[in-house]
Amino acid sequence: MIKAKNVNKFFYVPEKIQALNNVSCEVKPGEVVVIIGPSGSGKSTFLRCLNRLEFADSGEITIDGENVLDGNVDINKVRAEAGMVFQSFNLFPHKTVLENLVMAPMMVRGKGRKECEELGMKLLKKVGIDAKWNAHPDQLSGGQQQRVAIARALCMEPKVMLFDEPTSALDPEMVGEVLDVMKALARSGMTMVVVTHEMGFAREVADRVIFMDAGTIIEEGTPEHFFDNPTNERAKLFLSQIL
Ligand code: ADP
Ligand code: MG
Repeated sequence: MIKAKNVNKFFYVPEKIQALNNVSCEVKPGEVVVIIGPSGSGKSTFLRCLNRLEFADSGEITIDGENVLDGNVDINKVRAEAGMVFQSFNLFPHKTVLENLVMAPMMVRGKGRKECEELGMKLLKKVGIDAKWNAHPDQLSGGQQQRVAIARALCMEPKVMLFDEPTSALDPEMVGEVLDVMKALARSGMTMVVVTHEMGFAREVADRVIFMDAGTIIEEGTPEHFFDNPTNERAKLFLSQIL
């Protein structure tokens, strides 16, 4: 479903750094891959390259066979297939919850309002927040807003979901409700790439864990391998600091 091969990405401001150094990774349909690693290791940059929020400098990226780095590809279509959920919820503040869900599928997919609203309500129910369909984002808690953000991404009917530290900005008591939604999504067969520091989630849900450091994947394996038997010294050190 996702194929990344030798992906490189440089930033030149404030100084030249290589954010991604020959990153290769494949994700099969229905697979849940968790990416962990220290701050600044390139996790967000990698996710952002997958749906071209950042343009990789070299390498190959395909999502469901679609060449993301082809300048002629319809990038809105690529992004429609790769839903993204960020640390900050990024809901449209002046729109209701349901309106937040239906805007993109109407504009990008060209679907009718009624069809989108029906799917939207179904998804809001799935994330447990359908009662708030007519509320505005500022009337919701952080956990509720993030669940709406997940439902909004799903309303595009993406083939993969990318999560970038979706619970990092939440008060601790709200982390669980968002992780529960993500676990249910994983069980439903969604292909997911999740950047998170929630090791319990990684252990329970991940099919594979990827550890990044300094723009490179330095360890990759099952959660059991990664948590109980990491071979890389930097991965060991990182785990000892957070577990
Ligand atoms: P992570 O998500 O693992 O914390 P990032 O992908 O955000 O790491 O960052 C990787 C490296 O790229 C860091 O050194 C960061 O400072 C740099 N970086 C990320 N985005 C930009 C940007 N837009 N401009 C310049 N440097 C960036
Ligand atoms: Mg990040």
